[in-house]
Amino acid sequence: MKKTLFLILSICSFAVAGAQEIKTSNTSGFEVEKTDAEWKKQLTPEQYEVLRNKGTEKPNTGAYVNNFEKGTYVCAACGNLIFNSDAKFKSDCGWPTFDKAVKNSIIFVADDSTGTVRTEAACSRCGSHLGHVFDDGPAKTTGKRFCTNSVAIKFVAEK
Ligand SMILES: [Zn+2]
Repeated sequence: MKKTLFLILSICSFAVAGAQEIKTSNTSGFEVEKTDAEWKKQLTPEQYEVLRNKGTEKPNTGAYVNNFEKGTYVCAACGNLIFNSDAKFKSDCGWPTFDKAVKNSIIFVADDSTGTVRTEAACSRCGSHLGHVFDDGPAKTTGKRFCTNSVAIKFVAEK
């Protein structure tokens, strides 16, 4: 009995702390899965490079860096709703930045490909690479900065 209570309390404190589960890979087990050839056919070369090859667009070149219109942003590969425009904030990093993703829209993957450990943000529905998440976002809100490639998302203006 005591053990169960302890377990429940542990789970609660874990949830309260907002700790995010970090996965080690995002290659399979998704609702939307396609072969490389299928993705290549569907996506532009730029989208494919970022979404499927984990590339990064050059800073200050993306379509959405300075877009602050009202609406939503969906995964450019599968249409999964990722961000609401009210989560977007101005940042000097050169990429569209958000302080919050829609619940369960993103999975977090450990990425040490550059030698520094970063956390990759990928679409929870198709596993496509969207960008990285850092802990230097606005302290007033979540403290998170979802640094996102413009080509990996599509803006849907509010009607
Ligand atoms: Zn997706």
